[in-house]
This record gives sequence, structure tokens and C-alpha cells, in this order.
Amino acid sequence: QSQDRVFNFAAGPAILPESVLKKAESELYIWRDSGMSVMEMSHRGKDFLSIIQKAESDLRTLLNISSDYAVLFLQGGATTQFAGIPLNLCKPEDPVDFVVTGSWGDKAFKEAQKYCKPSVIWSGKSEKYTKIPSFDALEQNPGAKYLHICANETIHGVEFKNYPTPNNKDGILIADMSSNFCSKPVDVSKFGVIYAGAQKNVGPSGVTIVIIRKDLIGNAQGITPVMLDFKIHAENNSLYNTPPCYGIYMCGLVFEDLLEQGGLQEFEKKNMKKAEILYNTIDESNGFYRCPVDKSVRSLMNVPFTLEKPDLESEFIKKAAEEKMVQLKGHRSVGGMRASIYNAMPLAGVEKLVAFMKDFLARHG
Ligand code: PLP
Repeated sequence: QSQDRVFNFAAGPAILPESVLKKAESELYIWRDSGMSVMEMSHRGKDFLSIIQKAESDLRTLLNISSDYAVLFLQGGATTQFAGIPLNLCKPEDPVDFVVTGSWGDKAFKEAQKYCKPSVIWSGKSEKYTKIPSFDALEQNPGAKYLHICANETIHGVEFKNYPTPNNKDGILIADMSSNFCSKPVDVSKFGVIYAGAQKNVGPSGVTIVIIRKDLIGNAQGITPVMLDFKIHAENNSLYNTPPCYGIYMCGLVFEDLLEQGGLQEFEKKNMKKAEILYNTIDESNGFYRCPVDKSVRSLMNVPFTLEKPDLESEFIKKAAEEKMVQLKGHRSVGGMRASIYNAMPLAGVEKLVAFMKDFLARHG
């Protein structure tokens, strides 16, 4: 990484690969032989069509997405899909199951209450969202339209390492993958819908990706706004209205980069290595640093930790920033620290953080 860039440990918007930013910079004013910037292009012209089609096809390659699934590039963030999914898949009286392992799952549940009849069949709230339930213990409603999970809870650092089998009549599992999207291979065929805001692993905020099994499209409630209707977007290849063109272009550059670097298996290995050295540093600090999350379900992407002496937190954050490691403050709802180590965080960034943490411990422990 260049000397003048910081190591950005933010949870999102988050660090992007430097090579991608440089490529975008080199094409900022003039994209290929178009004579204009991607920002200035018609979304219906052949140049932008080639950009969005390549982005989709590279994402399909990365995640091995079959033709049974539509890939939609939408707007409004994952939060918009908290409403979009029940509106598209449920009638108002339909029951739906939620496993709530953190704040994002809880928000998705609360939004769904407006459009269907969701129930929380398991919540980790009383244990401060540090666990994933045993799947045997889940009492799923066989009449539920779908089972919803948040694959990685960004604030709490809790990640599903495998996925529950939905018991509902159509066997539909839906996952918010905003904060671990494209961080590792996923068997898409296990899901009815996968959705993700782009601004962690794959691009700028504003783009929202929805991967949906095609047979689930076409049942939206009558009140569904046209902008939330998956059928409209699928029929129009995400070009019903003006899409977030530049953001989609940036996601495309990231997908290309992920493929060039060996695909998601490679990234999973790199992400495991980064997470391992960080969690080891926390666990080997004799309680000076602490991560409350169950070891077996700790996130590879978001690593929350606290200090035994909380009054040292601001000093920790300030000194780290002086060494160009920024955005280490935990989410305002949980406090402490959080290091987000998405795909684009180089191993060198985590090694530098770990060296800093050991030094900080030596001085204050
Ligand atoms: N879901 C998860 C897991 C998230 O981490 C976030 C956001 O930051 C969201 C949903 C909300 O995403 P957005 O801000 O794109 O609506």
C-alpha cells in the first residue's frame, strides 16, 4: 500500500483495493474509447451495457451463480431490502422466521413486521449477540415463507460458519450478506435470496446486490413500489430506471480484481490468516484485550474487542491513528474497538495493528 494512504479499519464504507482505485483514476475522465467518463454515459448505451454485463458475469463466475438465479444491481442499501424482501415474497398474513444474531437481523425483523407476520425463532440478544444457535435447537415454523439470517453481524462480529437448513414448506433461506459478501465461497444454491450493500467488500455505497432464485420473482404485493419490485428489475436487467452507474462500474472493477487474484477461495485463505493473527493477539493478551464472541463463530471480517481498562480506549484509538491506522472505534451501540478487515485490507495492515497492540500492551499492561 502507498505510504500516503492510511490503513482504514472502518466497517463500511470501507477500504477498497488500491489497484482498483488506481484503475478507476486512470479511466476517470475518459473510459476506453468512449471519449467520456463512466459518470457521463447513457445507462442505455453500449459502453455502459458492456460494463454492467461484465460486472454481472464476473460476479456469477466468482460465486458460481447458476442461471436459475437473477443478479440485480439495485439502490437503497441493504436496509431497503429489509422491506423489499417481504414485499416481494410474502402476502401480509404470511408467517416468516427470523434468527436474530445481532442488530442488523433485528432491524430486518422490525421492518418485515410492516409487510408480513415475522417471528423471531431465536435471538442472541440476552447474550449480547455473541453466539450463533445450534441449528437443532431452532424451532422453525413449517408454514413460514422463509427463514431469514444475517450471515455476518457487522457490529457484533458474529458470523455463520455454515447455514441452517430451512424447514419451511418451500425450503427458502434468505441471507443478508452485506458484510461478508465475496469474502469466501458460498453455495448460492442453498439460498432463495442473498442480498448485500456493496460498501464493505465490493464497492461504494449506493449499490445493493440481490441474488434471487428466479422462481421466487413475480409475487410482489400490490402496494410494492416499482423500485422495490424484483420482477421489474429482473425483466429490465437492472436498467428499469437510471441505476447507480458509477458504483456498478466500481463493483465491476472489484470483481475483476478478485478474479485476477485467484477468486474467493484465495480470499478466504487470506482472510482466515488475517483474522487468526488478530484474534490470537487478543486471546494471548491475558485479558488486556478481550473479544466476547464465541470462538467458533468469530467473524473473519469484523473483529470487536474491548480493553480491560476502558479508560485507555481513547488513547489506543488516538495513538493508532497517529500511526495511520484509523476507524478502530467500536460501533456506538457497543463501544470498545472494532477492526474491520475486509478483503482489501492487506496482511501488512493487520500485522501493523497487531504489532501496535503488543506494544500498547507492553506500555500499559
Ligand atoms: N446489514 C448489514 C449486515 C450491515 O452491516 C449493514 C450496514 O452497514 C446493513 C445491513 C445496512 O446497509 P445499508 O447501509 O447499505 O442500508
